[in-house]
Amino acid sequence: MLRDGETKEQRVTEAGPPTLPARADHTAIRRNNLELTLRRLALTPGLSRADLASGTGLTRATVTRLVAELIELGLVREGTVSSLRRVGRPGTPLSIDGRHVLAIGLEVNVDYIAILVTDLGGREVLRDECEFDCVSAGPDGSVRAAIDLCHRAIRRVRNRRHDRQPVIVGVAAAIAGLVDSRGGVVIEAPNLEWRDYPFGAVLHHGLRLDGAPVRVGNDANFAALAEFRTGAWAGTADLIYVAGEVGIGGGIISGGRPLLGTRGFGGEVGHIRVDPAGPRCHCGRRGCWEALIGLSAVLRSAGISTPSGTHPRTMLETLVRRGHDGDQRALDAFERLGRDVGVGAAMLGNIFDPSVIILGGYFVALEEWVLPRARRELMKGMLGSRDPTPDLSVSGLGFTAAARGAALHAMDAVLSDPATLLASPLQ
Ligand SMILES: [Zn+2]
Repeated sequence: MLRDGETKEQRVTEAGPPTLPARADHTAIRRNNLELTLRRLALTPGLSRADLASGTGLTRATVTRLVAELIELGLVREGTVSSLRRVGRPGTPLSIDGRHVLAIGLEVNVDYIAILVTDLGGREVLRDECEFDCVSAGPDGSVRAAIDLCHRAIRRVRNRRHDRQPVIVGVAAAIAGLVDSRGGVVIEAPNLEWRDYPFGAVLHHGLRLDGAPVRVGNDANFAALAEFRTGAWAGTADLIYVAGEVGIGGGIISGGRPLLGTRGFGGEVGHIRVDPAGPRCHCGRRGCWEALIGLSAVLRSAGISTPSGTHPRTMLETLVRRGHDGDQRALDAFERLGRDVGVGAAMLGNIFDPSVIILGGYFVALEEWVLPRARRELMKGMLGSRDPTPDLSVSGLGFTAAARGAALHAMDAVLSDPATLLASPLQ
């Protein structure tokens, strides 16, 4: 365990005891040092061996040996020395390579399944999406469709030219619902109408990817992770992501870490009660934020009916068109939507004091109508807000945020323990 105020770097450097450590300690230290080196480079590409040594507190000799191992594995590569660096002897810049080390992120939502593959450096390798009615198909049919999408993606990746054979090191699936992430079980997904389904185990069995653990998590939590790592607000220690779909999900990053709660169910912002006299929610209660600002609610409020068999997301274009046409009913609906978004955002703002609340999913398409009104309402509801904090913004990651976050999460396990790649031959 780390003590308060202690960094992992300190733990590793302090771990050098005066007497010879046991063999197990050697292994643990090496593992920690590999992780440390790789994470530093993931965070700041271009560091030299000397930079790594001074930044981590490891000796120059240790860093040189670790980097050699990582280069040998194709996880790190050397760049060319820049002539711009005039002070001291220029070191060779290092960066994460690992273009053959791949993680799959999946998003299984009400009417589509999306996949996004990233490499070790977090670079997008491939993305794909299929429309799929996961409610009618049920969890068994949906997991089969997800497996087909994965296999198609793997075939496409393998058909490309590579210096090294690509290897899938992890898979994570983002589900719109409450998920027991340790067991990979979807506990309750009201909008999908699934309950107690062992999604992770079924997906793992169907994929048959040895050496690639399968993880399952909540979609908005993964989307928040993607914003924190790669979005316009990357690196912001306190941010909240609000996923606008048929339902409303939320993911909270607090102090640079996901806030998941005791059971991992934290962040269900869609069910804060914004208006006790409001409409009935999918969850059975009344006046939840989701019942006011979920896409179905907004379509109803704008007088747009969704023909049976059609998913609300396909009606989003109609809603946007009516906005552009100046349709009064749509504009009134946007006005109410802006107000209700702002009222709920102020509740979150007062509790968590984030730097920014990011609206994702369908909100992105309605930004121009909703955001100004929502910002005013948010500021009205915030205590101690002489400066406009939190900011309210829309996501730049679009509908890929959850799948991207899932892939980053799956890759985290490799960054945390690169030794697993050293220990086992690549697939
Ligand atoms: Zn509810």
